[in-house]
Amino acid sequence: MKTILVTGGAGFIGSHLCNRLVEHGDTVICLDNLLTGSQKNIAHLLSKSNFFFIKQDVCKPFASRKFNRIDEIYHLASPADPNVNSPISYMALPFETMQANTLGTWNMCELAFKHKAKLLFASTSEVYGDPQVSPQGEDYRGNVSTTGPRSVYDESKRFGETIVSAFVREKNLNGRITRIFNTYGPRMNINEGRAVVNFIKQALTEGPITIYGDGKQTRSFCYIDDQIAGQILAMEKGTAGEVFNIGNDDEITILEFAKIIQRLARSKSKIIFSQELPEDDPRQRKPDIKKAKKNLNWKPRISLEEGLLKTIKYFDELL
Ligand code: UDP
Repeated sequence: MKTILVTGGAGFIGSHLCNRLVEHGDTVICLDNLLTGSQKNIAHLLSKSNFFFIKQDVCKPFASRKFNRIDEIYHLASPADPNVNSPISYMALPFETMQANTLGTWNMCELAFKHKAKLLFASTSEVYGDPQVSPQGEDYRGNVSTTGPRSVYDESKRFGETIVSAFVREKNLNGRITRIFNTYGPRMNINEGRAVVNFIKQALTEGPITIYGDGKQTRSFCYIDDQIAGQILAMEKGTAGEVFNIGNDDEITILEFAKIIQRLARSKSKIIFSQELPEDDPRQRKPDIKKAKKNLNWKPRISLEEGLLKTIKYFDELL
């Protein structure tokens, strides 16, 4: 069994990853400063003998004498909510976001190098910015603003990828990169301003469902269990320096998405066009996942309806 460090392990994706690894029998060290993550997400794991939580910033030196061996590092720590109105968005936390993805990534690369551990850096579809090609393959270099409101996230993730790639090239680090596309499911932060969370909350409370812009912008939504399977396969089967898009390639407009949530939640909420499309909001997003399908033997398996029903149930119990 392996000893695995998960940074951002108390976040939405991180906590599901910890779950899966703990169930598998690995020793899991969850590192999180709880800036946007929550101890509630890992409460059920704290009693497990193979799970350890360390409340610490990923940019600080990792020095726990308890663990003299680390086999794998999943580096997920970073604020990830793109909505300017949300208190936990990367726009509300610009410096912490830039640090986690640059200094934090550098720190984790050094740690992986020291332990001869495998590293996975969780990057993002945001590295493609507002893409001019669709679907976005791993070779596409993106259309990203270096100064716009999303740049603190997009550009720091891009530089994080550069750091990992340099460690792979110059120091033979066994590092790989995953680009995570829109992912949803239970344990998403209820304070987030993401479309999934907003629409479900609004539908369940019979408030207006707020569409930004004309709703014709597209996304493709991946259920959390599929995302986690992709991350683990990328760690296991991906080789040093490889980049994988991990997401669902069923593209829909945000308006269609809102209507599906309205129907599944049996809601009487009205759909309203509440504000302009935020600056730099990508007009389309759809991953090309051929590479992950071929090299990792991975594909998303959970339909949007099935995943949304589970997510709606989670928020219904929470509200
Ligand atoms: N969006 C919306 N209403 C909301 C929240 C988001 O119309 O209440 C839009 C947002 O502008 C974007 C899409 O939904 O075009 C997906 O937004 P999300 O915040 O989920 O993540 P993104 O894909 O932009 O990172």
